[in-house]
Amino acid sequence: MSGPGELVVGEAPGGELASDKLAGGKLAGGELAVGETPGGELAGGEAPWPAEVARLFDERRRELARSRPRWLNVVRLARRSTMGVGGPALALAPRGLEELAEMMDWLGERGWPWLVQGRGSNLLFPDGGLSAPTLRLEGDFARLELQGDRLTVGAGADLAEATRRSVEAGWSGLECLAGVPGTVGGALAGNAGDEARGVLEVVDSVELVSPELGRLTLSARELDYDYRVWRRPRELDRAVVTKAVIGLTKAADPQAPARDVQARLAARRAKQPAGPSLGSVFKNPPGFSAGRLLDQCGLKGRRVGGMTVSAIHANFIVNAGGGTSAEARELMAIMAEAVGERFGVSLAPEIKVLDPEGRTRGWS
Ligand SMILES: Cc1cc2nc3c(=O)[nH]c(=O)nc-3n(C[C@H](O)[C@H](O)[C@H](O)COP(=O)(O)OP(=O)(O)OC[C@H]3O[C@@H](n4cnc5c(N)ncnc54)[C@H](O)[C@@H]3O)c2cc1C
Repeated sequence: MSGPGELVVGEAPGGELASDKLAGGKLAGGELAVGETPGGELAGGEAPWPAEVARLFDERRRELARSRPRWLNVVRLARRSTMGVGGPALALAPRGLEELAEMMDWLGERGWPWLVQGRGSNLLFPDGGLSAPTLRLEGDFARLELQGDRLTVGAGADLAEATRRSVEAGWSGLECLAGVPGTVGGALAGNAGDEARGVLEVVDSVELVSPELGRLTLSARELDYDYRVWRRPRELDRAVVTKAVIGLTKAADPQAPARDVQARLAARRAKQPAGPSLGSVFKNPPGFSAGRLLDQCGLKGRRVGGMTVSAIHANFIVNAGGGTSAEARELMAIMAEAVGERFGVSLAPEIKVLDPEGRTRGWS
């Protein structure tokens, strides 16, 4: 079964998708029948991937139609983004290490870049979609195992579930992630956490698969990180994080970690908007709170099209309905300019603004 908004190509009403239906850069009405998928109206739109990519993908999909019917999906990224924006993309969903390595080899041999994505809670996808295929870790990668003071967790696992499991068993370590949406892989990649702490502080080891180096494990002392960044060695730029071992501490009061998480969730409900967003748009500049600076610029409620600066938290952009990625970028530029002019402080984005090739870029 496909998830909401996903089209498993072989399941398109009217039978299999002929190779020419993905090719030619067109997603023509009726052919892909994407209008049949919940929320998807790709019909008539331009597919952002080149015709040659489409042809080879479709060829591969056909080769694997029996053994791996879910090898290729066509997805609407808006359904894979917590902000609800983004056009179409070709999507691969490896369910284990072997499939991941095989997909990376297949893409690598053709020199095609890809984007690894988790839940898209930190990614601003382009309105026109991505020409680079996306990889999303599923199946085995969602496993979680708590043994003594070690939580072994796949990069595709739900972060909230990892946090819940550890604190309910009385272990301390992941409380800083309470209320952070997304996957374990996404959290590790951006050292997600609260203002004081990031997840990499409690990591014992991380496993990765690199197209150049294959499978490897990094120990805690090999991790170079800072506030919301993990500075990976250049040769690991394109590596996919597959698993982590988290080191936990037994709390003196076994109820304390769960209580702490509940208090943090309540504080978030009071201080953060519930609407579709990507969380904090800008990082806190050293010594400042980005939200407070933006608030002092009177930006709460500022709107561009369907995107609005939250009235509750000035560092959140909320999709109030029908907002686009371009509108979010325009609003970001207004916000950064206002803070720059008034305080002389330059804001750096915390969210990742993607270009059509799936690379992180500036917002203007
Ligand atoms: C309401 C809300 C509140 C938030 N609050 C916080 C907060 O308090 N603290 C905080 O830090 N963040 C916060 N965020 C941001 C976001 O939730 C985190 O950055 C989260 O860790 C992203 O996880 P994801 O799975 O959605 O990753 P995605 O957004 O899908 O991807 C984020 C980055 O991680 C990379 N990535 C994902 N998986 C892998 C992998 N397996 N291997 C290599 N790279 C990978 C992607 O390529 C991308 O560069 C918030 C977001 C929202 C919507």
